[in-house]
Amino acid sequence: MSKLRFRVVETAFKKRPVEVAVPKERPSEYFAKYVFNKEKMFRYLPSKVYAKLIDVIDNGAPLDRSIADEVAAGMKKWATEMGATHYTHWFHPLTEGTAEKHDAFVEHDGKGGMMEEFTGKLLVQQEPDASSFPNGGIRNTFEARGYSAWDPSSPAFIVDDTLCIPTIFVAYTGESLDYKAPLLKALRAVDKAAVEVCHYFDPEVKKVYAYLGWEQEYFLVDEGLYAARPDLLMTGRTLTGHDSAKNQQLEDHYFGAIPPRVAAFMKDLEIEALKLGIPVKTRHNEVAPNQFELAPIFEECNLAVDHNMLIMALMRKVARNHGFRVLLHEKPFKGVNGSGKHNNWSLGTDTGVLLHAPGKTPEENLRFITFVVNTLMAVYRHNGLLKASISSATNAHRLGANEAPPAIISSFLGKQLSQVLDHIEESTKDELISLSGKQGMKLDIPQIPELMIDNTDRNRTSPFAFTGNRFEFRAVGSEANCASAMIALNSALAEQLAEFKKDVDELIEKGEPKISAILDVVRRYIKICKPIHFDGNGYSDEWKAEAARRGLDCETSVPVIFDNYLKPESIAMFEATGVMTKKELEARNEVKWEMYTKKIQIEARVLGDLAMNHIIPVATQYQSELIDNVYKMKGLFPAEKAEKLSAKNLELIEEIANRTAFIKEHVDAMIEARKVANKIECEREKAIAYHDTIVPAMEEIRYHIDKLELIVDNQMWTLPKYRELLFIR
Ligand code: ADP
Ligand code: MG
Repeated sequence: MSKLRFRVVETAFKKRPVEVAVPKERPSEYFAKYVFNKEKMFRYLPSKVYAKLIDVIDNGAPLDRSIADEVAAGMKKWATEMGATHYTHWFHPLTEGTAEKHDAFVEHDGKGGMMEEFTGKLLVQQEPDASSFPNGGIRNTFEARGYSAWDPSSPAFIVDDTLCIPTIFVAYTGESLDYKAPLLKALRAVDKAAVEVCHYFDPEVKKVYAYLGWEQEYFLVDEGLYAARPDLLMTGRTLTGHDSAKNQQLEDHYFGAIPPRVAAFMKDLEIEALKLGIPVKTRHNEVAPNQFELAPIFEECNLAVDHNMLIMALMRKVARNHGFRVLLHEKPFKGVNGSGKHNNWSLGTDTGVLLHAPGKTPEENLRFITFVVNTLMAVYRHNGLLKASISSATNAHRLGANEAPPAIISSFLGKQLSQVLDHIEESTKDELISLSGKQGMKLDIPQIPELMIDNTDRNRTSPFAFTGNRFEFRAVGSEANCASAMIALNSALAEQLAEFKKDVDELIEKGEPKISAILDVVRRYIKICKPIHFDGNGYSDEWKAEAARRGLDCETSVPVIFDNYLKPESIAMFEATGVMTKKELEARNEVKWEMYTKKIQIEARVLGDLAMNHIIPVATQYQSELIDNVYKMKGLFPAEKAEKLSAKNLELIEEIANRTAFIKEHVDAMIEARKVANKIECEREKAIAYHDTIVPAMEEIRYHIDKLELIVDNQMWTLPKYRELLFIR
């Protein structure tokens, strides 16, 4: 058995970088080669159709069905010229990843032959037989129909031989069954609410965009080693494995030289990403050995989310060409850092950015403060919900561990911004009115025009940190669909901005000058949302106690954290902004609980298998050798001396006996506990049972397995060890 381990280790060790086919053109020339972007639309569509489509894309004008046929024809012409033979509606179901069903462009021509066909109808809407996608009971099996509908704001693209058309996915009855539909609604809601607030400062603003720049962390593991680890193969993480003697203590990996085999992978990935129009820019090593990061230039949120889904698929594919497997799991290895996906988020108008300081004028600076404070209010009011939006069975391993944001949402502002907010808060109402000057627009708060927000002022322990021109939502998991966090954040802000407008208008109606009314409300908000502001060490135990005193959500059980979606204030917020209905929220939570249970269930089964089929047999085999040795010693030496010489082996024999007995008993008990949990009908209760009984059982079993790994003969151990998984590259 152990032969396999040594063979894969040896092979992995000998591998050399794969030669990357670098295009002859410059990146700017092959960028978006496989994307039906505006440039191709211009070339392949009649000018009238092009103009109408651009209006849909840029201004959110309703899609005129009459142009669909012509768009489809142009798209098909381009795609077939590029060698595509199939097309698919590409969507983000509530599971992970993306879904696609490929159809060939061919249709019967009615004369016994075939012709290439792609109509507007096929472009705009399809009915994937989607009964097996999770829907939380919205669609019962008799009404399995769901619609996928074209999202023209995210351009179609070609992967291999298939034209992929980004779509939303909704039930026959209209409820969303995916991430994109509510995301588009949330982006529209925040656009609408933010434009209204912008009008206090600049009546010319027509549109507010939410931007997202994600930073994708990941691990690479040699594929031979990966294949020899059933746990990696089935669950994406190692369920057993003792720390290697060296891991990340020396911090010699972060920003270090990129190993050549990895560099080849990155280069290849970047070329493919650029061809798909993903503006990748940054790559570097991360903290843990074999951990890396990739980040593009930020984009409009909906497009950025699509691009992140696409890049995760691309990474998996390209990694295989280089003899690697990419691990996107949030915590593939115990004892070394996990992977996150920082979501850098900001707002900008069609005329400029909103979260950027310093502005050119005092008004711009007040606008900046207004948006910062409303963001803090939204995060404060919905801190539990935001945590729910990034919670999952897999991210649970990372949050709260001493490396990632704690399972408490708070916001870091840095010294300068904190001082500005303190100043506004402390100034009296009269002071503020006099500061706002005669015309009501001339604001003269000395600190504000000179805002120099230093983005090197960093606090890596904060889950939601202000970093100069954006907020960085760091708690998002590496495997997650960013849409989940972006839906919660943008909807919460949309609600908040609408309330802000109401509050300010009320004061204006009472005769208060506009600027003074804005300052008044901002000042009040700064006081209210104070508990969310924390610039200290988010990893410390003191913070946990302090956060609880401040009334922030400190729950750590993921199935219970999901309850935040169904709190009255969350339902009210999602309904007021038109993003999701109560029914949709309930259904989605059913899916979340079910997914949670299934993940843990699979892990528990795999761990049981490993324990019974790998660990116990190998430990027992080694133990037999030791026993054999003890008996043989008795033949060689006088009894007393033999006993003395065998003392250590006797200890080991006993330790192995104790640990294997413990493992066996606990694996049996875990199976029984699963049987009990599986009988529970309510998905929420079932997930809680899995969290409360199965997760701790797995930890206990693992503890003893990892101890055995340290004493059993290395030659016999079947599973590649951490030192092999993490250091061979
Ligand atoms: P760091 O590791 O220091 O956080 P990176 O350069 O790795 O920084 O990533 C920063 C990410 O933030 C990039 O994707 C970048 O495009 C994005 N970003 C920069 N400015 C903004 C902004 N105003 N809004 C949204 N994202 C932004
Ligand atoms: Mg970052």
